[in-house]
Amino acid sequence: MNIWEEVVPVFVGIALHGSQFQTFCGCPVCKERFTKQLLQDLPPLYARDERERDRLFELVKEERRLEILNHLILKTIYKEGSSFQECPDRHT
Ligand SMILES: [Zn+2]
Repeated sequence: MNIWEEVVPVFVGIALHGSQFQTFCGCPVCKERFTKQLLQDLPPLYARDERERDRLFELVKEERRLEILNHLILKTIYKEGSSFQECPDRHT
């Protein structure tokens, strides 16, 4: 499995709850869109078993890598981001 599929949605969720992104929509449809784009941009990190998965998680959690990941997430949200008015899934 590609561990980004587990990591990215969590980080996108955290980013969208931050004060920076109050103008961007964080509904499931938009979140899914950001996540898909990020999974395309990130080179896959495959783990064959639980142990490898844990090891990769540790690597991802290193500060420098988290910074890179966060930077990429912010960039993607700004690029792909829709305001609430533009959301394809307007909850009106
Ligand atoms: Zn939305």
